[in-house]
Amino acid sequence: MNIIKQAMENFSLSEQDAVHLAQNHSKILANAVKSPALTSVSLNFIDNPVIPSNWSNILSGPLKPSEALKNKVQLYFSRMCFIVNTPEFIKLFNENLHLLRPAQNNPSNFNEFKDYLSQKLNQDYDAVVNISTFRNVIGANAYGLRHNGLNIYLDEDQVLSGTSYNNQGLLLHELMHTAGYEHIGNNDGFNDVPEYVQLLLMPGALNRKKFPTLTDLIKLMSRMQTLVPNSGDNKDIISHYFDS
Ligand SMILES: [Zn+2]
Repeated sequence: MNIIKQAMENFSLSEQDAVHLAQNHSKILANAVKSPALTSVSLNFIDNPVIPSNWSNILSGPLKPSEALKNKVQLYFSRMCFIVNTPEFIKLFNENLHLLRPAQNNPSNFNEFKDYLSQKLNQDYDAVVNISTFRNVIGANAYGLRHNGLNIYLDEDQVLSGTSYNNQGLLLHELMHTAGYEHIGNNDGFNDVPEYVQLLLMPGALNRKKFPTLTDLIKLMSRMQTLVPNSGDNKDIISHYFDS
């Protein structure tokens, strides 16, 4: 199969994105499609979202997803599925696992992580992710829940107004919850899998000169109480691949 078709099939990338990668990152794309993590994940947008029992204080105002929201989520999601297979992501993932607090299902390397996701997403649920949209999502703006399927609950405004790296990190974070990765202790760092993978997509994560370790980046972000600006050497990994 030609590589553009394969990228579209594996990651649900748009033809435009697949062509862009084939033209600008052909070697990396060729490797990424070989034995990918997060492969064949498809999104099922729910027209009439149902609030799970005991969630009515968190989710309110179920919405039929607009075309704008669907297009944005599909675009972000597909790019994110590709990005986790890039050498930059895999290297960061493997080199910083010491940040994770001990937990039963912690991966000890990327390949283990990939196999785990394949079992929890593809084998258990055919990698169909149900996307429900709400007018208000209290707290974290989004939630992922593994319950009778893989479910992600989104705040429409957050998705439509958020920057791409915010949204893509968020989607990857929530997808980890649908795979059964939980938060450990207080959310005070990046030391469980959902927070950890989100960290790898943040601006600055690829800047080894300024942030020799991710701990240096975490320290600066916690001191500034915000992300570092997404420009120059601090560009996040998704902008690195998809900015024209
Ligand atoms: Zn979470």
